[in-house]
Amino acid sequence: MPARAAAACAGATGPPAAVLGEFELIARHFTRAPRAGGPVRQGVGDDCALLDIGGRTLALTADLLVEGRHFAAGADPQALGHKALAVNLSDLAAAGAAPVAFLLSLALPRADDAWLASFARGLFALADAHRCELIGGDTTRAPRIAQHDGPITVGITALGEVPAAEALSRGGAREGDDLWVSGELGDAALALAQRSGEVTLAAGAAARVGERLDRPQPRVALGLALRGLASACIDVSDGLLGDLGHVVARSGVGAQVAWTEVPRSTALRAQPEALQRRCALAGGDDYELLFTVPAQWRAEVARAARGAGVPVTRIGRMIGARIEVVDGSGRAIDTSPLRPYDHFG
Ligand code: ADP
Ligand code: MG
Repeated sequence: MPARAAAACAGATGPPAAVLGEFELIARHFTRAPRAGGPVRQGVGDDCALLDIGGRTLALTADLLVEGRHFAAGADPQALGHKALAVNLSDLAAAGAAPVAFLLSLALPRADDAWLASFARGLFALADAHRCELIGGDTTRAPRIAQHDGPITVGITALGEVPAAEALSRGGAREGDDLWVSGELGDAALALAQRSGEVTLAAGAAARVGERLDRPQPRVALGLALRGLASACIDVSDGLLGDLGHVVARSGVGAQVAWTEVPRSTALRAQPEALQRRCALAGGDDYELLFTVPAQWRAEVARAARGAGVPVTRIGRMIGARIEVVDGSGRAIDTSPLRPYDHFG
């Protein structure tokens, strides 16, 4: 689930303390072993589910964006159309899957023709760029409750294709593998901090980081190029440490991250160290790929990244039993204040 351009939009009035966290909830109530002999190659727990159908392997993923949780009321509908699909294509990229088609489900407080035209423009521009076709969905009116419009809710289920033997998953990292990330981390969180008034940025920097939050570019070409190369892969939607935690949990090996290597934009590097760490290690909404590759394949990773037109950075390696972030002199950084995003945490 995408992190949320959340807390900032959601305001301070969250639900009372819940017993279950987001992932505990899913594990306890919705995770079942795939039926033996059935078509499910991979079920709940990874960026995409994998289904073997007619000799081909399909990758499926669903993400929901809710007004007031993932985007602010009054958000630009064109950007919203882009982002709703982008977060799903990002999960396909994390599985190394090529986008094929998607379903679109909408709950809207009203039928606003201009809003819908703009939303559709953003949606189809990205869909066409990835040759991903809209094939269905559902549309319903969001009810008014106590004189308030119900929130706009956009749910997309996307379908891709990947050769079974080359599908990427969270679970394949091995001791000694290098840890890589694409692009730069933390700008989306910095944009949220700027919009909430926590930080002030020059107009140019505000526009650049705002673009990262509103129009993330799913790393589909990189995901395809990492087929057969990456031992594990995930997209960074909930913050580096949280998503690395999923790789660590499913792979059964820890990770050491070199903080000085974590790629950050000029705008983020100009901020106080504590804010840089919060944004780049726990910020969320980055939609970069975090992946592991055996250390002897560094040149191949560089070639794959060049071919995909996306910069990648080696930020650590898979080692030990838990996640450790170290500073420039190898000392462990206290990351306990940097909690990953959890919708119910
Ligand atoms: P992502 O961030 O890649 O979208 P998450 O980490 O949010 O995925 O979700 C973890 C796993 O739980 C994924 O495999 C997702 O498909 C699954 N999942 C999330 N919500 C549900 C649900 N309500 N029922 C079944 N599976 C779910
Ligand atoms: Mg994901």
